[in-house]
Amino acid sequence: MSTQDQAHSIKGGFETRAIHAGYEPDLATGAVIPPIYATSTYKQDGVGGLRGGYEYSRSANPTRTALEGNIAALEEGERGFAFASGLAAEDTLVRALCRPGDHVVIPDDAYGGTFRLFDKVEQVWGLAHSPAPVSDVERVAAAIRPGETKLVWVETPTNPLLNIGDITALAAVAHDAGALLVVDNTFASPYLQQPLTLGADVVVHSTTKYCGGHSDVVGGALVVRDLDLAERITFHQNAMGAVAGPFDSWLTLRGLKTLALRMDRHCDNAERVVDFLTSHPRVGDVIYPGLETHPGHEVAQRQMKRFGGMVSFRVTGGESHALQVCERTQVFTLGESLGGVESLIEHPGRMTHASVAGTDLEVPADLVRLSVGIETADDLVADLDRALGD
Ligand SMILES: *Cc1c(COP(=O)(O)O)cnc(C)c1O
Repeated sequence: MSTQDQAHSIKGGFETRAIHAGYEPDLATGAVIPPIYATSTYKQDGVGGLRGGYEYSRSANPTRTALEGNIAALEEGERGFAFASGLAAEDTLVRALCRPGDHVVIPDDAYGGTFRLFDKVEQVWGLAHSPAPVSDVERVAAAIRPGETKLVWVETPTNPLLNIGDITALAAVAHDAGALLVVDNTFASPYLQQPLTLGADVVVHSTTKYCGGHSDVVGGALVVRDLDLAERITFHQNAMGAVAGPFDSWLTLRGLKTLALRMDRHCDNAERVVDFLTSHPRVGDVIYPGLETHPGHEVAQRQMKRFGGMVSFRVTGGESHALQVCERTQVFTLGESLGGVESLIEHPGRMTHASVAGTDLEVPADLVRLSVGIETADDLVADLDRALGD
């Protein structure tokens, strides 16, 4: 029984799996936490006599195996795979499942790095892509090219406008056309949403964000249920080699153990911040899937446990006001990325989404994005109040 199989013998609730799945205390020492196996190779007991299947650390490393089993259990999948970054996971997946001449549908507001991967890297190798809004199942269906489309790729919620895609409906549309549904679950995290249980075929994570959760490691993951898919990804993970190292795997696994606690606090604090912003005279639209006015609210309520820690809003004073707010906060740190314990603020138009200026994907200049952290909620509200001005 491989270590990942042991991971699946762990049953129980999400928090129990987060803490126990993927690793059993070390037989030799009883170590409760998997050691950082800083080793490239493994002594064989006679030629080909591998202990636990370990041969060379690109193929498998015990610290990485523990992380892979853990995240598979959290997503209710059969197999997990850990990579050096979210984009490394994406590239490995695409090259495992697509060939030149194939086509994929991607979100029209995809994460910028995902769009760049399809547009500037995969396209050169003959993989075509069409953008469609994830919140509109009919337009996604219309973008599918029967026979050519191999993947329908979605994010939900999306970035920075927090659009919501109906995973069950999107899976049906993809499967009708013989395509697979891939869900980038980075914004929700496995605690808030488990796409495989809703019909998705592959879950993608940038574990850099909520899974790692402490802004101290870059990583990515894939999770699947189907064992044929797992075999193709296993082959490509080893053949392409963009794997997570043992220390990065250890940090990410450590982060996952507290994911449930952190996410609940991220959600509590985001709700407090949303309450404050919706009644502030210098704030216009507040974008949060938990608001009844959000067009994806009902779908989000059906498929997410809560609505997450990301909040976007528009200010009444135009771009200069938005920039001022971003530069005036003291508890919210001005910076890109998201999902860490610390609150971050950014101006998408000039920062994360600067590369889509002048295209259909351009975001409003008066938009501010928050990754609400787990600090004291009163301090977050007071910080935004000060920064917004009178
Ligand atoms: C950050 C991010 C990625 C890319 O992950 P990296 O770890 O930065 O390579 C992909 N998708 C989403 C939604 C992200 O936020």
